[in-house]
Amino acid sequence: MEDYPRDLLELEVRFSTEAACREYLFQLRWPTGFCCPRCGGRKAWPVSGVLVQCAACNRQTSVTAGTIFQDSRVPLTLWFRAVWWVTSQKNGTSAMGLQRVLGLKSYKTAWALLHKLRRAMVRPDRDRLSGWVEVDETYLGGLEEGVHGRQTEAKALIVVAAQEDGPGIGRIRMRRIPDASAESLVPFVRDSVEAGSVIHTDGWLGYLPLANQGYDHEVTFLKGKKKTPSELMPRVHRVVSLLKRWLLGTHQGAVSLEHLDEYLDEFTFRFNRRKSRSRGKLFFRLLQQAVAVDPAPYKSLVKCSAIGEARSHKM
Ligand SMILES: [Zn+2]
Repeated sequence: MEDYPRDLLELEVRFSTEAACREYLFQLRWPTGFCCPRCGGRKAWPVSGVLVQCAACNRQTSVTAGTIFQDSRVPLTLWFRAVWWVTSQKNGTSAMGLQRVLGLKSYKTAWALLHKLRRAMVRPDRDRLSGWVEVDETYLGGLEEGVHGRQTEAKALIVVAAQEDGPGIGRIRMRRIPDASAESLVPFVRDSVEAGSVIHTDGWLGYLPLANQGYDHEVTFLKGKKKTPSELMPRVHRVVSLLKRWLLGTHQGAVSLEHLDEYLDEFTFRFNRRKSRSRGKLFFRLLQQAVAVDPAPYKSLVKCSAIGEARSHKM
């Protein structure tokens, strides 16, 4: 059941109260009925408008407890509007843009909302890439110019994996890494790409161990060729140039290195869903992940699987 608003008007009409938002989150978090985050119990009764009590262990909980909404003073109606705005804009929004559109008094609130939402953009059990995958690392520079006047290292090294989809790009993964050693590159590939896939890299030594890790390693050497790196790994370099444009455009370069990882997550979320026709569906996905990402004991993850079967096979 994928039930989501089709447009802004529908959103406004449907989610005008806290109770309506709660009810929607309840359906997303417990699609097959309540499941106690402590014991996995299935029976509960309401003890207030917000809390329910587990019949088995008496634990009182709410649909937002243990999710990104926990302890937030922002009403859910506002959260829902933030999620709508974030998912309906092709390139997302800056904190300042969100503050303006939601009429928030504080920039910090808008910033915190976006930040928490970014955490929900990584699905804990997401599939790894497979097939033919280009991998390359590159520097992102000039990110912190003018930020608080601090003198910080202005460059970050990132590694990007891009699935080859004919001449085009399928899904991507990216990560910030401390250096281009095998110790940094190989774990990224292992976390991002299924074993048995073909990994396409340049001749850098850091990728050599991949052949012993269950991958088919295809190397294209730069040396002696007239081609530039962007011609050798065209997909990765296309992704990186889009990423740079996004950081400089939507976020006007005001991304601190400290938070770069979260921005990479958001970019990946958007990129991998760029062909999705329905914005409402992205709204649904992001809220679904928002009630699933956070601290829940392993036992409850298994028993209360909210996002399909894959979850119970994790760890
Ligand atoms: Zn319980």
